[in-house]
Amino acid sequence: MNVVVCVKQIPDPAAPQSLEPGTHTLDRSGKLILDDSDAYGVEMALQLAEQAGGGEVTLVSMAPNGETSGLRTALAMGAAKAILVSDDALKGADALTTAKVLAAAIKRAEPDLILTATESSDGYTGTTPVQIAEILGLPSITFAKSVAIDGSTVKVDRQTEAGYDEVTSPLPAVVTVTAGVVEPRYPSFKGIMAAKSKPVETLTLADLGVTNANGQEITSVDDAEARAAGEIVVDEGDGAQRIVAFLEQLKVI
Ligand SMILES: Cc1cc2nc3c(=O)[nH]c(=O)nc-3n(C[C@H](O)[C@H](O)[C@H](O)COP(=O)(O)OP(=O)(O)OC[C@H]3O[C@@H](n4cnc5c(N)ncnc54)[C@H](O)[C@@H]3O)c2cc1C
Repeated sequence: MNVVVCVKQIPDPAAPQSLEPGTHTLDRSGKLILDDSDAYGVEMALQLAEQAGGGEVTLVSMAPNGETSGLRTALAMGAAKAILVSDDALKGADALTTAKVLAAAIKRAEPDLILTATESSDGYTGTTPVQIAEILGLPSITFAKSVAIDGSTVKVDRQTEAGYDEVTSPLPAVVTVTAGVVEPRYPSFKGIMAAKSKPVETLTLADLGVTNANGQEITSVDDAEARAAGEIVVDEGDGAQRIVAFLEQLKVI
């Protein structure tokens, strides 16, 4: 069972964030860390490979400046190797371009299963995984709260508002996992040391043969409007009616 996990490396959400003055895009020049959302996919992949009794977990990431810090964390958890796509031409890449690039990198690993998070913690469009599936011509299953392999099929409990759907799909497939799918392990000291020498293949767009990488232009960015003060309703016997009238005016009821 060979599993690819897409892992996004992001600026530390706990640190102050800034936009680049000219492009208005997120400043990604510093150290990037493993997106917490992707730790669940890494853990799920490790467990599935262990249960299958063989195979390995390959990480795929697209990030600027040849950044591998986040990948090393996932390698320390137990993944075998990583493919990093890093290319100056990807500056300002949009989600579809990211999906094209990741799909091309995933193809090289010939996986039985591709896992991603449902959405990243910084861009959170939640659109990349299904675009990867479409580009690769594979089935996609979203919001997995459990994943099991049965021969050449994957069985997923897919989280819904009302409960969950039981979905079965032939492999290979792209599955997005929720934070409820498994509890990610902490990298051990041995894992951290081992991760230093695990292979990370760094590729450019030319290596992947991707020629249609387009970006998007952010023309301007404004501060969000400050919230207006709320209206306090003092109940003088008609409080309920006034609240109902207020909600009707907002078209909430
Ligand atoms: C304005 C702008 C500028 C950008 N500039 C750059 C840049 O300079 N350099 C650059 O490399 N990228 C850049 N990107 C790409 C960006 O960081 C995202 O990777 C991409 O837009 C995906 O969108 P998202 O974060 O909403 O993903 P979502 O669809 O929310 O992600 C869902 C899941 O897909 C997987 N995934 C998403 N993105 C990646 C990734 N990059 N690598 C591995 N797995 C991933 C993860 O598992 C993630 O949890 C830029 C994007 C935008 C919008």
